[in-house]
Amino acid sequence: MTNQEIFQRAQQTIPGGVNSPVRAFKSVGGTPRFIAKANGAYIWDIEGKQYIDYLGSWGPAIVGHAHPEVLAAVQEAATKGLSFGAPTEGEVILAEKICELIPSIEQVRLVSSGTEATMSAIRLARGATGRNKIIKFEGCYHGHSDSLLVKAGSGLLTFGNPSSAGVPQEFVSHTIVLPFNNLEEVKKAFAEVGQDIACIIVEPVAGNMNLVKPQAGFLEGLRELCTQYGALLIFDEVMTGFRAGPKGVQGLTNITPDLTTLAKVIGGGMPVGAFGGRQDIMQQIAPLGAVYQAGTLSGNPVSVAAGLKTLEILSRPGFYDVLSKTTTELVNGLSDLARQHNVTFSADSIGGMFGIYFRENIPTSFAEVQQSNIQAFNVFFHAMLDEGVHLAPSAFEAGFVSASHTEEILAKTFAAADKAFVTVAQ
Ligand code: PLP
Repeated sequence: MTNQEIFQRAQQTIPGGVNSPVRAFKSVGGTPRFIAKANGAYIWDIEGKQYIDYLGSWGPAIVGHAHPEVLAAVQEAATKGLSFGAPTEGEVILAEKICELIPSIEQVRLVSSGTEATMSAIRLARGATGRNKIIKFEGCYHGHSDSLLVKAGSGLLTFGNPSSAGVPQEFVSHTIVLPFNNLEEVKKAFAEVGQDIACIIVEPVAGNMNLVKPQAGFLEGLRELCTQYGALLIFDEVMTGFRAGPKGVQGLTNITPDLTTLAKVIGGGMPVGAFGGRQDIMQQIAPLGAVYQAGTLSGNPVSVAAGLKTLEILSRPGFYDVLSKTTTELVNGLSDLARQHNVTFSADSIGGMFGIYFRENIPTSFAEVQQSNIQAFNVFFHAMLDEGVHLAPSAFEAGFVSASHTEEILAKTFAAADKAFVTVAQ
């Protein structure tokens, strides 16, 4: 069966043929590749075509696909039973490991997805502060819970409009949306309604509007404002946790958030999320406190086994040095090739994640990301796909490198890009 045939068939029973919208290739056009298997840095579609994978399951596949040690851990766990609905030792070990690796996390609760982690962290922030309002930033994605699905507002204290049908205006009336990297706007918001603000939630390096790094002083300023006004600072490190560096962005910047959300890498490819932070705050969750939070499959033993083994592998000496060297080489190589082909292009990376932008300079805000040449990206994306390189199917997504991306694989990627940039330049 071809990708096209199964995509047609899928649309009969699955809305849009996919179980998560961006998989549908809507923004780049064409037919999504239905993946049959993956190994290391490669994925294969159902037609048997091989691709170098820079999607990395949207982040989790940091040690490479189907890593033998992770598979062995999963198999061993699975033979003992798939889910018990009662506590296990593995959960305790994973919690201890997370607390050991990320010092701001004194206690942690495991959930099953990033969406659950952020949704629960916000409920906890509201419960702990007794306040309702939250601040989020344009272009930052924190999962699909109602109060976080908010369109970018314009200007100070423009309260968000729902960006999805089915979200009542009242549900987002407490969500303040401000421009990323604009501390002045945050200061104004606090000056106006600071006593009502429960928390700021931020992707400390934004990875859902392509890749946008915080400018000097931005995260520090958020920390200071939260401390000054008694609001909580939540770092959503669902994407950046154990990906941007061994302690996430907080480890790189030495900023201590009150709460942190994690997912992706800590599940090693299985469904896991987590939220954690200051013990005094975390102890306000049920069964100790009044903030309710629960989950049938939370701390699932098979997922925990995959996550633990993944964290063990990436704790080995030199793991992040190699990962970030590979990622830097990738973006430098692509930038050189773009220059040779006279294509307007820039690129950036941190740890094992990267952004490519069809614009002159690396963007610092959602507005700037939107000024990229989306058409050029789409042409590049398809040309790369034809050449056997699978990028994220949208100009607004970051890319991911794994420990399995070798020099040889980079060389193949550059050979593909050399051809793809010719197509873009035409
Ligand atoms: N937060 C961030 C920063 C994310 O990148 C994502 C997903 O991409 C989420 C939250 C939601 O995670 P999930 O898709 O596991 O629900």
